[in-house]
Amino acid sequence: MFIDGAWCAAEGGRAFLVANPATGEKIADVPDGGRADAARAIAAADAAFAGWAGMTAYDRSRILYRAWELMIARKVDLARTMTAEQGKPLRAAANEVQYAADFLLWYAEEAKRVYGETIPAPRGDQRFIVAHQPVGVVAAITPWNYPSSMITRKVAPALAVGCTVVLKPAEATPLSAMEVFRILEEAGLPAGVANLVTASDPAPVGEEFLENPLVRKLTFTGSTAVGKRLARGAAESLKRVSMELGGHAPFIVLKDADPEHAAKGAALVKFLNTGQACISPNRMFVHRDIVEPFLETLTGRVERMRAGNGMEDGIAIGPLVGEAAVAKVERQVADAAARGARVLCGGHRLMEGALARGHFYAPTVLADVTPEMLIYREETFGPVAPVIAFDDGDDVLAMANDTAYGLASYVYTNDLRAAMRLFEGLRFGIVGINDINPTAAAAPFGGMKQSGLGREGGHEGLHEYLETKLGGFSI
Ligand code: ADP
Repeated sequence: MFIDGAWCAAEGGRAFLVANPATGEKIADVPDGGRADAARAIAAADAAFAGWAGMTAYDRSRILYRAWELMIARKVDLARTMTAEQGKPLRAAANEVQYAADFLLWYAEEAKRVYGETIPAPRGDQRFIVAHQPVGVVAAITPWNYPSSMITRKVAPALAVGCTVVLKPAEATPLSAMEVFRILEEAGLPAGVANLVTASDPAPVGEEFLENPLVRKLTFTGSTAVGKRLARGAAESLKRVSMELGGHAPFIVLKDADPEHAAKGAALVKFLNTGQACISPNRMFVHRDIVEPFLETLTGRVERMRAGNGMEDGIAIGPLVGEAAVAKVERQVADAAARGARVLCGGHRLMEGALARGHFYAPTVLADVTPEMLIYREETFGPVAPVIAFDDGDDVLAMANDTAYGLASYVYTNDLRAAMRLFEGLRFGIVGINDINPTAAAAPFGGMKQSGLGREGGHEGLHEYLETKLGGFSI
């Protein structure tokens, strides 16, 4: 763990094991932090706050810029660590490291642009100024599916504005987190400004984050269930929260769209990270007139995807994170098949040869999916593409919005009016119009409804870590 500028063991010397999800092999032992470690890290972050917030934005920017340079220089090493502990193919891991680095660079630049405002006052002898100040100590909790970028997406804006941070990464992927913190250390971050607490059991660390009065902001990416629990806990002392939670993205293909082009996009975005992404399409609504060519292209592409150890060339499908993830996919696919869905490819666990040692599920396409099926409502977080044909009279916008979630959505059409109508009508924080990758460090990412609170990336991401202060001056 990295606390107050020093790498250290957990109190009591406990450790936990990190394993490769593709092979089951042990990779490393990592300090198993608890509540006392979290408290020590929070105290360090609190002690460092005044100094860090008091530095010029230019000095903070330079450190983030240096961290960006180091991350780019180490891209291949970081990608290998990520593939080993998380399972995604090496090329996808390298892309994620690039995305993680993008946040360091963008917020290094943006650190210098935290502008305030002057407001005309109602009295002649009065002046109003509005300033933005860092909220204070930030507690951050990140998931295993994007082990580096979910860290920099929180830590870079927090540091840019002068906050200090304590981060708890997911128990499956602490090694990528350690690499990020090594980079921050080498970039010259003062002691205590960013602290890392690794733990096999998130609950005690989470409790300290919620109950410690020095923590002023909690930022979380993970499941909706845990996010709600944390938001409830944060309410006790009215800590600010940002929540990036689950999703159930609709992927709408209108009648005028090219079904093959849309299917290629669907194959790319659905199977990214083996479907383990909160922006992964979970319901593909395709107009009945073009559903057969869509399914043919999609199935053709999916059948060619090779599953295996992400360290090997040509692998498109890595392992799922664990047994529970495989069981959930099996349950959803079995339920869909029992209720009449056609399994066009996949539909089973992969057990041949070396695959038996990991948590592999065959990339799967389901046709004739209906609202009664579990997969129509539950987030899958696995490599299954559920396709639903809709007809001329169907209100596809209402069908797409019929979910408790509201993170990402996708639309394929060349009809400008339809595109605008769907962009405005979809109750989702992100709408990709003929675009399967509507994300970037400069763009706000986040969800409506039960997909979360707040935004990360862009200007919005900066303001999640800022307080607004009004000054009224009588002159
Ligand atoms: P996922 O289904 O993606 O694993 P989780 O919400 O369980 O989602 O995990 C996301 C992050 O939340 C991980 O870092 C995990 O350790 C953490 N987490 C899970 N439960 C708790 C909890 N009770 N308190 C604090 N953090 C938690």
